[in-house]
Amino acid sequence: MPNNEIYNTIIIGSGPAGLTAALYAARAELQPLVIGGLTWGGQLMLTSEVENFPGFPEGIMGPELMQNMRKQAERFGTKILDENVISADFKSSPFTVKTDKAEFKAKTVIIATGADANWLGLESEQRLRGKGVSACATCDGFFFKDKEVVVIGGGDSAMEEASFLTKFASKVTILHRRDEFRASKIMLKRAQENPKIVFVKNVQVVDVLGENFVEGVKIKDNNTGEEKVIKAAGYFAAIGHTPATKIFAAAGIETDAKGYIVIKNQTRTNIEGVFVAGDVNDPRYRQAVSAAGMGCMAALDVEKFLAEREV
Ligand code: NAP
Repeated sequence: MPNNEIYNTIIIGSGPAGLTAALYAARAELQPLVIGGLTWGGQLMLTSEVENFPGFPEGIMGPELMQNMRKQAERFGTKILDENVISADFKSSPFTVKTDKAEFKAKTVIIATGADANWLGLESEQRLRGKGVSACATCDGFFFKDKEVVVIGGGDSAMEEASFLTKFASKVTILHRRDEFRASKIMLKRAQENPKIVFVKNVQVVDVLGENFVEGVKIKDNNTGEEKVIKAAGYFAAIGHTPATKIFAAAGIETDAKGYIVIKNQTRTNIEGVFVAGDVNDPRYRQAVSAAGMGCMAALDVEKFLAEREV
C-alpha cells in the first residue's frame, strides 16, 4: 500500500548501526522511520554475552543490549517497522522503499542492513538446516545437551560459538582449513584452555552426514587427502558473513567485489541522499561499537545534507 508521507530519512536495518542512526536522527527531530526486518536487531540478537561494548563493565547479553538501543531510539520518536525491505528505487528523490506490506517515500535513506552468515555450500548442509545444522550457537546450542558438535571456522566467531556450546555439548570439535587462526589471541586462548574443545586443523568438510538429523561430518585432510568421519549431532558454521546488499546493488548503489557498499565521502554512497552505516560497508572492523559509531556519523551526515538543501 503506498503511503503519502515523505520521511526525512528511512533507515533500513535495526542492528547497532541502524538504531544508533535512528537515535541521532530522532534527537535531531527528523522523525526517522526504521524498517528493521522481520527478525530485527541484527547479529547481536544471536550473540550471548557482549564484553566489549563500552559502558557495561560486567558485560551485557546481546539481545538485551539491542532491546535497550531500540527503546532509546523509540524514546525520541523513532518509528520502527518489523518488516523486510524487498526493493528500493533511488532514481529520483523522494526515494521509494518497498516492504512486502507497503511502500514508503523519503528524502534520504541510510542503509544499515548488516551481513548474513556464510555457508560452505554443501547440499547436505542446506538439507539439514534446522536439523542439526545451524549458524547460531546462541539460538540452537541448547538442543545439544550432552551431545558432540562441530564448529567450522578459525575466526573469533568460531571460538565464541565453540566456547558457548561447551555449556551444553559434551565435546566441541573446531574444524579449521588452515594451520593458523585469524581469531584474536584472547578468544583463541580461551577456547584452547577449554577442556571440552578439540581442534582439528588443515581439514575441509566434504559432507554433512545423516538422513533426517546430523549424525556426523566427513572431513578431508588438506595435506594428505585422507578422509575421516567425525561423529556429531550438531554442525555450526562460523565462516564469516556476506553483506545484505543485493537489493541496493539492483537499485544502483555501488558495491565492491564482495558486495560491501562503497563509500564516497564519509558515509555517502555513489547516490546523493543515500547513506550507509555498519557491517554492510565494513569487512574490516565488524564490531557493534564501530557499527554504532558509523550509525551516528550517517545520521549527522543526513542532518547536514537536509539542512543544506532546505537553505
Ligand atoms: P572471519 O574473521 O572472517 O573468520 C572466518 C573464518 O572462517 C576464517 O577462519 C576462515 O578461514 C574460515 N572460512 C571462511 N570461508 C571458509 C570456507 N569456505 N571453508 C572453510 N573455512 C572458511 O569471520 P568471523 O569469525 O565471523 O568474525 C568476523 C568479525 O567479527 C571479526 O572482525 C571478528 O573479530 C569479529 N567478532 C568479534 C567477536 C567478539 O569480539 N566477541 C565475536 C565474533 C566475531 P581462513 O582463516 O583460512 O580464511
